[in-house]
Amino acid sequence: MSTPRMPILFAGHGSPMNAIEDNEYGKTWNSLGKAFPRPKAILCISAHWETTTTQVTGIAQPKTIHDFYGFPRELNELQYPAAGSPQLAQQVCQLLGLDQDKIDQRWGLDHGTWSVLVHMYPQADVPVVQLSLAQTRDGQSHYNIAKGLAPLRDEGILIMGSGNVVHNLGMLSMSGEIFPWAAEFDQKVKECIEKNDHTPLIHFQEQGRAALLATNSAEHFLPLLYILALQQPGEKAKFYCERMDLGSLSMRCVQFG
Ligand code: ZN
Repeated sequence: MSTPRMPILFAGHGSPMNAIEDNEYGKTWNSLGKAFPRPKAILCISAHWETTTTQVTGIAQPKTIHDFYGFPRELNELQYPAAGSPQLAQQVCQLLGLDQDKIDQRWGLDHGTWSVLVHMYPQADVPVVQLSLAQTRDGQSHYNIAKGLAPLRDEGILIMGSGNVVHNLGMLSMSGEIFPWAAEFDQKVKECIEKNDHTPLIHFQEQGRAALLATNSAEHFLPLLYILALQQPGEKAKFYCERMDLGSLSMRCVQFG
């Protein structure tokens, strides 16, 4: 029995409230979960887990982390009780050449992961492992290490990046009017992806003022590089949720495969 090659997804997660609000983002994520072949496990690269060097969660029962402040009790009490997968953590470690001490036993599932998965897999019945963003890597280094994950796609593992193509919490617009630099960079990212031109995206901080403002918190952009690195020849991008929240929060999702 051959396992179908799994799609890969970058999800723009936006506000943690998307976990509990009934909106088009949640509906889209839900329909993607239904459309994808059922994964054996999920490997998520979330904007909200940054470490010095690359780490992978190895705990069997990860806790739900509420890594935000000032949100309603309903959100703070939400649990996403998916199992972990120590076996997948081991495999990731081997594929990426990480030492055993890079298997983390403390982190759980942060909201970058569960705010999307609560819609994609509401039963929380698919094991989830997270891979951290190493602060010591630049764009090229993130892109390069991600390539090591490619064999997982053929083993039923859904690899997902969760962040935002444009994310600058210091520049939000309550009126919802879209900042020109936000629209410009979001469009540039789309065009580069359509042209399979990853180089300007890997070197995103060298792309001028709009890029610098849009990736002011680079950790939300970096998960996209993991998904681009895993694109196989001939795979065309599918875009979802092409909207901007609060003037500068791109909710763009990108799927390959
Ligand atoms: Zn976030």
